[in-house]
Amino acid sequence: MKWKGRRQSSNIEDRRGGGRRAGGVGIVGVIIAIIIWKVFGISPETTLGVAEQITQPRQVQAPAHQTTEQTESHAFVATILADTEDTWNTIFAQYGKSYTPPSLVMFEQSVQSACGMASSASGPFYCPADQKVYLDTQFFRDMRVQLGITGEQNQTELSRSDQAADFAQAYVIAHEVGHHVQTLLGISQKVRQAQASANPAAANNLSVRQELQADCFAGLWAKHTHERTGFLEQNDINEALDAAQKIGDDYLQHQSHGHAVPDSFTHGTSEQRQRWFYRGFQTGDLQACDTFATQNL
Ligand SMILES: [Zn+2]
Repeated sequence: MKWKGRRQSSNIEDRRGGGRRAGGVGIVGVIIAIIIWKVFGISPETTLGVAEQITQPRQVQAPAHQTTEQTESHAFVATILADTEDTWNTIFAQYGKSYTPPSLVMFEQSVQSACGMASSASGPFYCPADQKVYLDTQFFRDMRVQLGITGEQNQTELSRSDQAADFAQAYVIAHEVGHHVQTLLGISQKVRQAQASANPAAANNLSVRQELQADCFAGLWAKHTHERTGFLEQNDINEALDAAQKIGDDYLQHQSHGHAVPDSFTHGTSEQRQRWFYRGFQTGDLQACDTFATQNL
């Protein structure tokens, strides 16, 4: 998969390295808040909340002291996010709508989102409440391990599995952005409403349909981006989908925030996921991704 040299999105909040880089109020802030509390009677929570909002930068570019690996992964994620923006700008425009892109938060170990605190064990997720995609870099490293990139391969094998890993990672981002699109189109809200009065089996079925639609939306991204840039190379898709799904299922099983799903939640079988990805990839058509209308998932 080719990704270098394209536009990079600026809608990235890189919160990795150096602790509370993004928006920490620090000890001075706390002391000031206590003084305000004593003098004016305004609670420290209020003061610190406001201070946090003021000091929280809207967009954090890759910090200068990042490692080479961090700088590289930032550039990669920013490029794929830009690809999703170009894709969804185009598709929304076809329907006379304008697309509002999500922010993407890169983090390590743990992160605070409007959907609660999350750790690396959660895997990547989308939080509808703040319309942000959250991505921990450890997940990407695990994907490379899953794809068997050990450093013992010859150069040809290495570059092939490297490219498959790139595509697998890009696919995960496109899937999460798919959940953002579902939020913008009001689909996620309808699913939540329907689930509120449904029995557990029916509620789970709706979750599966929602997940398969996000896979189909990822297929739309792959199709549009390939037409625009020719970024896909042979075997990218088969190898990458396989790996992404193995890892994705395992991770996403444990995930309860963002998607608001019950414990028995599943993403659908690997076969279903591949089929819906290909449906999007082959048609490039938003209407073809209506997983809610079909009898046959
Ligand atoms: Zn999902």
